[in-house]
Amino acid sequence: MVSGVQMQYYKVCKRKLWLFTKGITMENEHERVVEGKILHERAYPRLEEREILVDNTFKLDALDGEYVREIKISSKMSDADRFQMLYYLYELKKRGIIKKGLISYTKERKIEEVELTEKDEKAIEKAIKEIHAILQQPHPPSLKKLPYCSKCAYYEFCYALEGDE
Ligand code: SF4
Repeated sequence: MVSGVQMQYYKVCKRKLWLFTKGITMENEHERVVEGKILHERAYPRLEEREILVDNTFKLDALDGEYVREIKISSKMSDADRFQMLYYLYELKKRGIIKKGLISYTKERKIEEVELTEKDEKAIEKAIKEIHAILQQPHPPSLKKLPYCSKCAYYEFCYALEGDE
């Protein structure tokens, strides 16, 4: 079962997806995960269904009526955030639960609504297959320089190796 974070990393960088899944974690990656967790706890103090574990496999931030809710610090990675939400909606639909998504961006104070279309479902199915194929590879996908790299927790890891080549 693919996790929400893996689906997000798939969109951001396939190499990051591989490194993260294989347990290669960097200190600042861990800090970011903790930061996100605190943010979630503060964001939904009253929603009883905060952090719902679906089938013991993936966790939703919160369910609020017809919506699945997620909170993010900033909208810098909004495409990946949207894809992650579509994945949750897809998995819920497979279990007979039809929901829409709401992503709240605290920095920009904006909320994005996400609805799952048939086209999105196909994109998610394709992504799941590709993620499994990537993770079966013995080595990480090669480094592709992305604008995001300088902000990535694996920056030093990726670029130090590159310098040795
Ligand atoms: S530094 Fe760049 S290439 Fe390396 S994992 Fe991060 S985003 Fe991917």
